[in-house]
Amino acid sequence: MSLSFDPDRLPLPIGHFIGDRLIPAAIAMEGGLPMHRPSDGRAYADCPVASSDLVDEAVATAQAALKSSNWGGVRPRERTAVLQRWAALIEEEAETLAKVEALSSTRPVGQLVAGDVAVTAEQIRFFAEFADKEGGDLAPTDDGSFGMVMTEPYGVVGAITPWNFPLSMAGWKLGPALAAGNAVVLKPSEMTPFSTVLLAQLAVKAGVPAGLINIVQGDGPTTGAAITRHPGIAKVSFTGSTAAGSAIMADIARSGVKPMTLELGGKSPQIVFADADLDKAAASIATSVLSNAGQACVAGSRLLVEASVAEPLIDMILGHMRAVRPGPTWDETTRYSPIISERQRARIHSIVTASLTGTVECLTGGAPMDGEGYFYAPTLLAGVDQNSPAVMEEIFGPVLTVQSFDGEEEAMALADHPTYGLAAGLYTRDLSRALRLTRRLQAGTVWVNRYGRSRDHILPTGGYKRSGIGKDLGREAYLANRRSKSVLIGL
Ligand code: NAD
Repeated sequence: MSLSFDPDRLPLPIGHFIGDRLIPAAIAMEGGLPMHRPSDGRAYADCPVASSDLVDEAVATAQAALKSSNWGGVRPRERTAVLQRWAALIEEEAETLAKVEALSSTRPVGQLVAGDVAVTAEQIRFFAEFADKEGGDLAPTDDGSFGMVMTEPYGVVGAITPWNFPLSMAGWKLGPALAAGNAVVLKPSEMTPFSTVLLAQLAVKAGVPAGLINIVQGDGPTTGAAITRHPGIAKVSFTGSTAAGSAIMADIARSGVKPMTLELGGKSPQIVFADADLDKAAASIATSVLSNAGQACVAGSRLLVEASVAEPLIDMILGHMRAVRPGPTWDETTRYSPIISERQRARIHSIVTASLTGTVECLTGGAPMDGEGYFYAPTLLAGVDQNSPAVMEEIFGPVLTVQSFDGEEEAMALADHPTYGLAAGLYTRDLSRALRLTRRLQAGTVWVNRYGRSRDHILPTGGYKRSGIGKDLGREAYLANRRSKSVLIGL
């Protein structure tokens, strides 16, 4: 059966989801945000903006649901079972989820059922399994006392997600928070708000107590800030830009103190040594900047290549870049994504243009693509230096810069970015070199002879430097959703 669909005829769950109710948008009162389809630029809906009163209601609903369901106190395996049913329902409804996701976002529908949707279900299952496996610790004390470390859920977790992988980002937040016994108030991006509502509706259908997942729609300054500042929100889990992460830290500091996890931006290097398998490296590098048109936090957007192999490697990457064909996200055959908005495309173009000075050469692309929608041509900039805007700034588009080096020391010096440290890629057949340099790279994730996240959800993800604080995925994400209490008993 074809996954392609007519974007004008797709029903959308427009509204907030609080308790077990879709609250239809009162746009006239709330002042909605106009939304445009990235694939053709047409306006199709307004995103409602939840006021702080509505956020209050969502938090109160979450608190009441925690109390009435005793979610944090039930037999842990019960939480596992319910969350596993939710994961199964997500798989059953994969087509519907994929279509709603594809309409608003930059994700082509043909990549969603077996990709993002399947991964979201898998991640929820992965975290569900921690509920009855991770406990506390006994402390080594003297004979006269008995010490232990208990862990407990926080209560209501506030989650805020970006637009680039809306479903799986929601899965990253909801899976560990719920498995660990919390309730969640989640705000998706105002550009991709509706697939997350479907996800929450399926959770209630699967038996997750109503009110444990509440979705409030809106922008950052109004709805996002109402969540992060809310005294009833015990912990904040955020994924988005470094700028918004800083604003959230400041907001939390001004309104009180609470723990936060921040998964932020990146400008990740991919370092290719002359002994690498160049065909494989070229394909992997190209995929990392072409997939979702480079709109991925871990996009390996800075190519550092040993000078002796720069020319053949660049030629191979250019071949991949020139082969892309844009298409609407609702066409099953589409592989190359549009940019999320006209504004973001203009930003990409302005950074590319500002970088074209001195010795900098644009070897392909460098411009918006003709036709409807917000497509940007895959772009390769050579001759850049460390101060070039294209090297310094997270572009979040299909733009790769190339710098060449001689030897490991120069490679390491170029790899080190003053701001970001999210991920790094290394291509070499020399195992000792790979391990030596992995130790030196200032990044939260290092991929060797491959690039990009796998489905090994046990590997946590998170940044060094201003790429973030704390981790998503892995055991660390589960533990980050529980706080510890030390107990000492005199015997
Ligand atoms: P963004 O920071 O503009 O927005 C992210 C979310 O934060 C949105 O829901 C937005 O409404 C909200 N927001 C913005 N300002 C806020 C504020 N002051 N208070 C509360 N909420 C606020 O990011 P984006 O454009 O949606 O996503 C792209 C960015 O996300 C890139 O920088 C990318 O690297 C990053 N990202 C990081 C990871 C990771 O794992 N490190 C994963 C995906 C995306």
